[in-house]
Amino acid sequence: MIKVEGLVKRFGGTAVLDGIDLAIEQGEIIVVIGPSGTGKSTLLRCLNFLERPDAGRLTIGDLDVDVTRASRADILTARRRTAFVFQNYALFANKTALENIAEGLIVVNRWPKEKAHARAREILERIGLADKADAYPAALSGGQQQRVGIGRAMAAQAEVILFDEPTSSLDPEWVEEVLGLMKQLARERQTMLVVTHEMSFARDVADRVIFMEGGRIVEQGPPSQLFGSPKDPRTRDFLRKVL
Ligand code: ADP
Ligand code: MG
Repeated sequence: MIKVEGLVKRFGGTAVLDGIDLAIEQGEIIVVIGPSGTGKSTLLRCLNFLERPDAGRLTIGDLDVDVTRASRADILTARRRTAFVFQNYALFANKTALENIAEGLIVVNRWPKEKAHARAREILERIGLADKADAYPAALSGGQQQRVGIGRAMAAQAEVILFDEPTSSLDPEWVEEVLGLMKQLARERQTMLVVTHEMSFARDVADRVIFMEGGRIVEQGPPSQLFGSPKDPRTRDFLRKVL
């Protein structure tokens, strides 16, 4: 249902993504691991057109485009179908938790304010923050802020949620509550593409783990296989360092 073929992104002369092919099934939970500087964030950002790729084909539902020729309308469609959860939450500091969740529905989906706020309240219930509706980000813990960031992505009802190291900025005490919410979404079979260093999350939750290095997919498979009997020496080397 989501497919990228031959995705290339260059910065300066360097190919940071060097021909990525990836198909994601509906309801699939994919975890992407790999050394830093390897193109994991760039891959997610290209799927959402936060970066403009240099080559490749992107299919999301009935959208099927050569990424170099994507129109403004194609890009907006791709953005509506791929919600993003950022490492640093990226909440609006001057909006409440409720308004942060409702904002995209109002601006992107053009919902009336009342309808957007009603949806945001439902989401706040689901993420366990109903009592924080009127709190501003500064009054929330890191874990609560990231749960609002995830709530905002949930509200979008995108085909896939892209998580870029969602727990890397958190104090250790807040990591579990954010992973817990992600596990809840996984149980509901929300399609997810998650870049993370949380190997236990990958092991417990992923249908498939992808190991990237140097802008390429080196190896992928179910977690039991990738962690238990990695084939490529680069995968083995990486896992030795992080496990
Ligand atoms: P990862 O998420 O795996 O750590 P990134 O996708 O962030 O890796 O970055 C991959 C490479 O691309 C790095 O060498 C990084 O410095 C470079 N890079 C990322 N974004 C930019 C940018 N906007 N301009 C120039 N180089 C960039
Ligand atoms: Mg990154």
